[in-house]
Amino acid sequence: MARINENYLKLPGNYLFAEIAKRVKKFQADNPNAKIIRLGIGDVTQPLPQVCIDAMISAAKELGNVETFRGYGPEQGYEFLREKIAEWNYKRRGLKVDAEEIFISDGSKCDCGNIQEIFRLDCKIAIADPVYPVYLDTNVMAGRAGDLNADGKFSRVTYLPCTAANNFSPTPPENKVDLIYLCSPNNPTGTTLDKAALKIWVDYAKKNDAVILYDAAYAAYITEENIPRSIYEVEGARDVAIEFRSFSKTAGFTGTRCGYVVIPENLCGTTSDGKKIPLKNLWLRRQTTKFNGTAYIVQRGAAAIYSDEGQVQVKTLVDYYMTNAKIIRDGLSAAGLKTFGGINAPYIWLKTPENISSWEFFDRLLKNFHIVGTPGAGFGPCGEGYLRLTAFGSRENTLTAMNRLVTSG
Ligand SMILES: *Cc1c(COP(=O)(O)O)cnc(C)c1O
Repeated sequence: MARINENYLKLPGNYLFAEIAKRVKKFQADNPNAKIIRLGIGDVTQPLPQVCIDAMISAAKELGNVETFRGYGPEQGYEFLREKIAEWNYKRRGLKVDAEEIFISDGSKCDCGNIQEIFRLDCKIAIADPVYPVYLDTNVMAGRAGDLNADGKFSRVTYLPCTAANNFSPTPPENKVDLIYLCSPNNPTGTTLDKAALKIWVDYAKKNDAVILYDAAYAAYITEENIPRSIYEVEGARDVAIEFRSFSKTAGFTGTRCGYVVIPENLCGTTSDGKKIPLKNLWLRRQTTKFNGTAYIVQRGAAAIYSDEGQVQVKTLVDYYMTNAKIIRDGLSAAGLKTFGGINAPYIWLKTPENISSWEFFDRLLKNFHIVGTPGAGFGPCGEGYLRLTAFGSRENTLTAMNRLVTSG
């Protein structure tokens, strides 16, 4: 009998985006002339930087020639890309990360989702609430999260509440956890963790033999100088943290697919008899068995952002979205709404007026202004009473949407 992994049945249906689509569809059907603007999307809209296009075209030509053809690449990723990442994202910022500690992948979602495989099933995990759903769902599938309680929380998961009251900066729990997922700049709240907050987590991880899984997919969006781009800016982090990064939001690679993980040489996990094992070795073993590398063409495209010209083009792209973010923040404030984030991230998290629910406010935005956001409650219990808008739309749509809010609000 092909018995199934019943952990999958514990996953609550991902009704968030389906429910949004359903409500938008109905509204459009009832109001065929309404020009609906979607500010709920978490996908980029602007084209790839020219340096990436040029590099990918020339890489494609190499593959068309018998002298320069390439088949399977190294599972860990090509050295030309790993060297560039180590140099431009770490060494130039005074951080010690070696090319040998970098693993190229086809995106961060896979890495954030797969990393839990190298840890034992009885490890206790901590996640922020609200949160990017991948961290929790992959642990549920593995059977590490326990059962879903009536309050919408899994029995073996430690939830770290992030609300305006704590500046969306979670603090370590009283109990001992083994794996801690942190995301900064944060999706969905658009807020960041500062060095002092990260130091508290690094110290906690050291004291409790825990590992921090640090998702820095939006590092390129940080505009304030004192906000860490990497967890390795915090002293001691190399002993306790794995870092995830992606070209998706940095360079528009959401469809092109490229990301990477940093696992420091000395970062270890523990066996049941107390032996320390480098996590890097386990991850390499996992990748060589289950992954066959990111496309050569794509890795050449990604490497192209690490040049003076590439950096200018990436900055232009990020600036485009961050100008949208400012337009949204200013528009919401002018409409009398309280906002968070949007300064070091392409997400704006807003408090619903008069404490109405996330879904009620979603409906109000749709009906009165023809704007689609994402209800905060969909990201976790602490997201109730908030709504997420993204800066990934076009400038024109962003301006039109805010204009509607300010003039008819
Ligand atoms: C978009 C995003 C990623 C990156 O995903 P890719 O698979 O690299 O496209 C990772 N983490 C968070 C929180 C994200 O929002």
